[in-house]
Amino acid sequence: MTAPTTDRFAAPRPTPKPGILDIAAYVGGKSKIEGVAHPVKLSSNENILGSSDKAKAAYRDAVDRMHMYPDGKGSALRAAIAAHYRLEVERITLGDGSDEIFALLNQVYLEPGDNIVQGEHGFAAYAIGARACQGEVRFAKEPGQRVAVDEIVKCVDERTRLVFVANPANPTGTWLTGEEIRALHAALPPSVVLVLDGAYAEFCTDPRFEDGLDLARNAENVIVTRTFSKLHGLAALRVGWGYGPAGIIEPLERIRPPFNTSIPAQDAAIAALADLDFQQRSVALVEQWRAWLTQQIGGLGLEVTPSAANFVLINFPATPGKTALEAEAFLASKGYLVRAVGNYNLPNAIRVTVGLEEHNRAVVDLLREFVSR
Ligand SMILES: *Cc1c(COP(=O)(O)O)cnc(C)c1O
Repeated sequence: MTAPTTDRFAAPRPTPKPGILDIAAYVGGKSKIEGVAHPVKLSSNENILGSSDKAKAAYRDAVDRMHMYPDGKGSALRAAIAAHYRLEVERITLGDGSDEIFALLNQVYLEPGDNIVQGEHGFAAYAIGARACQGEVRFAKEPGQRVAVDEIVKCVDERTRLVFVANPANPTGTWLTGEEIRALHAALPPSVVLVLDGAYAEFCTDPRFEDGLDLARNAENVIVTRTFSKLHGLAALRVGWGYGPAGIIEPLERIRPPFNTSIPAQDAAIAALADLDFQQRSVALVEQWRAWLTQQIGGLGLEVTPSAANFVLINFPATPGKTALEAEAFLASKGYLVRAVGNYNLPNAIRVTVGLEEHNRAVVDLLREFVSR
């Protein structure tokens, strides 16, 4: 622990407030392998098709406006999102990625000693932001690698201000039905904000899935976040958005950095949203190869967690020579970057983003070689 507040003035140099130095920085998916010139990156759930040509054109067109500040309200992009999803434009907030919206939510709601609740395999960004506000993080059990409504509810106490649920979840790929999400909402005190992170929502095509936007329209304590980073393939541009009631959106708008989404990012996102063909091709590719990867890798004797996202989670035995970390290293040595997820409390698993046909076939062939060596 860092020095208590009273000692900080007397310290010989500036000292971060208590808790900051206990936070482990976020580690992204690897993008390089020693000695491999062009590795195939299947470690960050990016869109393997890249991004829409229309979005690229819009980005290029923005080059002559680099000297200008963006529209701080992001009015054109918010209007495009509102039209696309049939939402009220004044209830939409933009973020420098949805990550920033999580951080702002933590800042709005957490006092030191308050807490957030998330699944034990939940996304690291929620917890980092909460701890930065001197909040605590309560991890709910996820039986069978799936968020469980009753386990989340059990963790809620009088200091709980936020519950974060990614649906579908990362890194498990599992998801809750609309009915389960509504049951979770019904079981939470009205003072607790339910954050429904829909980063992978478009990839879940099961009719029992609900994106939560209706719940956020009608409830006073629900916000849905979405991102342009995954389906739309604009991860580099950092654009996310949130939709919720005025009582949640308005305080976020007060503390949001005023120019948090850039002109090229806003323009590319508008173009991406209109490119339905690119979106359909992206979802179709994931649906086809996610099922194939699950079936093929399962056939090798490895347990694949059923996924509704653009990646699969593969579980390995703890037997020396056959572990998840060794599988990750083996795939890397052959030029394929995947993600070991020990930092998500899943030490025996790797997460593999769905790739192009050739990548998926290569991953299965390499895993076959790995398990039989
Ligand atoms: C990738 C991802 C996001 C998106 O983050 P951005 O900041 O919008 O790029 C959000 N939540 C989860 C669970 C993710 O995996």
